Amino acid sequence: MNHCTSEDGLGNCVFYRILHEASHKYLYDLIPTYDYYFNFRNRNRIPNIFCRTEFFRNSFFPSVINEGNKLETGIVNSESFTIFRSTVLKSIRPTPKSIFNISSPLGIKYLTWLRLGLSHLREHKFRHHFNDTLNPLCPCNLEVESVSHFFLHCHFFHNERLDLMNGITNIDPDIHLLDDISISNLLLYGSILYPNEINKKILELSINYILISLKGLFFEMTITLIFSFELKPHSLTFSVSLYM
Ligand SMILES: [Zn+2]
Repeated sequence: MNHCTSEDGLGNCVFYRILHEASHKYLYDLIPTYDYYFNFRNRNRIPNIFCRTEFFRNSFFPSVINEGNKLETGIVNSESFTIFRSTVLKSIRPTPKSIFNISSPLGIKYLTWLRLGLSHLREHKFRHHFNDTLNPLCPCNLEVESVSHFFLHCHFFHNERLDLMNGITNIDPDIHLLDDISISNLLLYGSILYPNEINKKILELSINYILISLKGLFFEMTITLIFSFELKPHSLTFSVSLYM
């Protein structure tokens, strides 16, 4: 079946059909014409429609044409709709991220949560409107508790980070030349620059860091619970939610 869903890049599919399929010429004829765009017809592109407002820019024709014009010429000129759709899909859908045969179900679970932005980190919880997360700041109060903060900056995990960074630097001494986001992505996914066995070592180091850090958090939670219970029983609920 040659049809598209919004997940497949519906706008791009419509763009291709407007350009290449006679059965969709009626759509081309519906495109508003403005100034010198009038009577313009190019087999690769449809001129973008001038938009004075965001509302109009997001409407059907302007958004479809704008998105379609971002495609590479080679893709727009695909021989058939099937080839076009397949190429667009590859560019839209992320390729599966490998875990390089690591055998740590718990570690893989936490790593996957971090990859998906669904972890215990406050940036993730705040984004998903957890009731107990009123802001995305880390409990250390330095900055947002993001993946890069967790891996690279939070002073709560200073000692754990020494092992992580020593291990990573042994693999690639130039790692410190990368920016925070690149290092975080390396720790989450590995890199196409390295063979699988090296990527496996990198992810094992990341997982070790994650598990030890979480262990520290749960230990701290226990201590907090004890003190809360002894000093202020009514704060027990708050203390639990702080670290869960
Ligand atoms: Zn922190």
